[in-house]
Amino acid sequence: MVIDYLSPDYEVVRNQQRCIACRVCERQCANEVHSYDPDLKVMKSDDSKCVNCHRCVALCPTHALKIVKNNDTFKINANWTNEAISEIFRQAGTGGVLLSSMGNPQPYPIYWDKILINASQVTNPSIDPLREPMETRTFLGKRPDKLERNADGSLKTDNPYPNLELSVPIMFSAMSYGSISYNAHESLARAAQELGIYYNTGEGGLHEDFYKYGSHTIVQVASGRFGVHKDYLEAGAAIEIKIGQGAKPGIGGHLPGEKIVGDISRTRMIPEGSDAISPAPHHDIYSIEDLRQLVYSLKEATAYKKPIIVKIAAVHNVAAIASGIARSGADIIAIDGYRGGTGAAPTRIRDNVGIPIELALAAVDERLRQEHIRNNVSIVVGGTIRNSADIVKAIALGADAVYIGTSALLALGCHLCRTCQSGKCNWGIATQRPDLVKRLNPEIGYRRLVNLVSAWKHEIMEMMGGMGINSIEALRGNRLMLRGIGLTEKELQILGIKHAGE
Ligand code: SF4
Ligand code: SF4
Repeated sequence: MVIDYLSPDYEVVRNQQRCIACRVCERQCANEVHSYDPDLKVMKSDDSKCVNCHRCVALCPTHALKIVKNNDTFKINANWTNEAISEIFRQAGTGGVLLSSMGNPQPYPIYWDKILINASQVTNPSIDPLREPMETRTFLGKRPDKLERNADGSLKTDNPYPNLELSVPIMFSAMSYGSISYNAHESLARAAQELGIYYNTGEGGLHEDFYKYGSHTIVQVASGRFGVHKDYLEAGAAIEIKIGQGAKPGIGGHLPGEKIVGDISRTRMIPEGSDAISPAPHHDIYSIEDLRQLVYSLKEATAYKKPIIVKIAAVHNVAAIASGIARSGADIIAIDGYRGGTGAAPTRIRDNVGIPIELALAAVDERLRQEHIRNNVSIVVGGTIRNSADIVKAIALGADAVYIGTSALLALGCHLCRTCQSGKCNWGIATQRPDLVKRLNPEIGYRRLVNLVSAWKHEIMEMMGGMGINSIEALRGNRLMLRGIGLTEKELQILGIKHAGE
């Protein structure tokens, strides 16, 4: 007999008095947790299959279900925790790398929660955002280093460099068609268009149906070069070269062959059933000079009309790396912190590699200022931005805009079960199964995204008004508006802010 060393992570608790055996939970669960016993005429559950995605809980018409953490435990040990023991059992059983998805869930410090925002009192009065004009529009890309005048003495106001214009400094981060569903992509594209912002194809190419959203699309060029061709490059408003990603810095990606079917195979331009492997490095980039060649090849291919973004993971020495990127000719640097989401990553990498985005951002902005090249590039940060206050703090620390991925998926219904890699997302997001994809209605999905960003925009304006600032550009890098709480001298020094009370 094969012994199963593992007990289920979750327990499905069914209130039998409320359950009417309608079998909704059985039909809704792609993990086949629920089943009907015709002899006993009751619903049963297989706890070992439950991933705690809450689909059944949300749809049960009588609220008969709840999912609780399984309290079964090994002997208490602060070093050999339940998780550590279970992972050893799992790997000893399979011999495989542990896979997971979404962002790093480990209890590292969340610096956003240790930073407080200023507000005006008495002098420099606050501004009422409902009655006075507030500017949340921002531009991403190179800016001229100094003011220039026309022959008649008037100021030149045209920026000679290609820029992205955003109504609010928020963009949807890269999520490929293949890792997320068609309906999820459509929701993001429509929301970006309505909001006057941008969504990002990720590395999976651009589905032909979405070319019409091109003016609000960032097209990505990753190491696998999936779906990259001239029309694709020309379709987007900007091109992003993906070097790294916060959830798995230093390693490549792998979408298994069984997910490369139909439209996904056509969009990626690879045969059906073949594994989509993105190598860890770009095989033509081993130096900043090589990166510069790719930046200028892409500029040349698109007649110098589109800003080029270079996306990296936040790692040690990120400031020096960003300095090189700023000198490569790139227009925008995107930095992804170690809590950034993903459709699949080795758990050990996700949980142990990279650094927090807050520290990376502060270090990069400071370095580029010191080197007088801050105007050469805009900085966009992601991983993780959870609310409007995180955005205000990011901008005051030096970001021009933020990328949101996990927050956008949550708006679409994701419940952060962190099993996207299984392809059985019960909310129709990280799946290609037609019966699951149709659960996400893009009409509702796009509305929810528009609601989220609109609500955040309103809150950003309220916080700006409270600080007496009426333009988001005036907030950028304005670290005087921030104070730290519960941080060490070293952390305050890296963040470039004072402690609360100073
Ligand atoms: S959805 Fe709720 S009421 Fe219906 S069978 Fe499942 S637990 Fe029972
Ligand atoms: S996208 Fe789906 S599978 Fe992935 S974490 Fe969210 S609910 Fe779970």
